[in-house]
Amino acid sequence: MASAEFIPLSTPVVRGNEWTYVKECLDTAWVSSVGSYVNRFEEQVAQRAGTEHAIATVNGTAALHIAMLLAGVRPGDEVIVPAMTFIAPVNTIRYIGAHPVFVDSEPEYWQMDPAAVTSFLEDGCEQRDGELINRNTGREVKAIVPVHILGHPVDHDTIAAAANKAGIPVIEDATESLGARYKGRPVGSLGEIACFSFNGNKIITTGGGGMLVTDNAHHAERARYLTTQAKDDPLEYIHGEVGYNYRLTNVLAAIGVAQLEQLDAYITRKREIAKRYRDALGAIPGVTVMKQAPRAESIFWLFTILIDEEITGVGSRELLRRLGDARIQTRPLWQPIHKSPAYPEYHDLSLPVAERLNRQALSLPCSVNLTDQQQDRVIQEILSTLSR
Ligand SMILES: *Cc1c(COP(=O)(O)O)cnc(C)c1O
Repeated sequence: MASAEFIPLSTPVVRGNEWTYVKECLDTAWVSSVGSYVNRFEEQVAQRAGTEHAIATVNGTAALHIAMLLAGVRPGDEVIVPAMTFIAPVNTIRYIGAHPVFVDSEPEYWQMDPAAVTSFLEDGCEQRDGELINRNTGREVKAIVPVHILGHPVDHDTIAAAANKAGIPVIEDATESLGARYKGRPVGSLGEIACFSFNGNKIITTGGGGMLVTDNAHHAERARYLTTQAKDDPLEYIHGEVGYNYRLTNVLAAIGVAQLEQLDAYITRKREIAKRYRDALGAIPGVTVMKQAPRAESIFWLFTILIDEEITGVGSRELLRRLGDARIQTRPLWQPIHKSPAYPEYHDLSLPVAERLNRQALSLPCSVNLTDQQQDRVIQEILSTLSR
């Protein structure tokens, strides 16, 4: 098997008008962060997300950082986030000197647990002089950041109802889920602000890039201001406050416009890949395949399974190694952030569902250009490893 073809987890596919649009930027020298492709990319992402406004950023992390500032998060405040996520949203809370409050995942669809959110807001917090205060820490809770992980929406209505009652805004981290829907509504349009990423491994990519979307004109204007060094007077270079250089370039936006033209085809392909994995692996004892909630239209960004070692006799990391030997790339889900060396003060916290997902999960190859033959080889290798 040493000569077997390598099957990657997920690689970008660039096969549309990317070259044509980038060439146009280079030929006309519109290469910087002002240009028609930036405007088009913003308009088209706003349309996909179902929002009034969109502001392109250098990456999704920058969009999240700005979103936190728009929500009024200040040093010493708290922001509610799931522990089972890529680390970026949590880091942006730290950039401001604020503190994450980690909540667990629900076991069915692996998203932020709405019951945990509700009980924290109702029982763990109280209103004092118009501020929402965490009873344990005495700190002000400013926002909640649900993360639609792996292409699947969170149970937004339950989370939003609790947040509304508590008087805090919902900022969606929709970076992994462009094109997904919740009760028919696109992710990105559910909260007060939402963020997308166009990093190389996302459903569409600009190499690196991000977008902040909102219906709120004031937020949109302020996001534009903060992402361009808070410049008040472009002639005299007068800056009203400390801003950031967070804007996306026209060259990268050109790639984004071309990628967006392919988004529907990519989502269709992701769903086909998910269906084939579900059909082939769904009935194996000890294997749980990624599901779609009745309320949801998932884009199945990274197709993921759980392996219960007590039933299969093979753990997720052992399966990862065996598949690696067969030149098939797979990956566990993220270390839950409350166990991360970057957040040592949270290590005593116990969030059992997030921890179990980290132990048992394995994401399988699911590039949109994966062939049926390649996928069959992945499936065969999993079946033969688990039956040994
Ligand atoms: C990819 C990702 C981000 C950050 O996006 P970048 O563009 O890489 O900065 C944020 N949150 C989650 C959950 C992500 O998966």
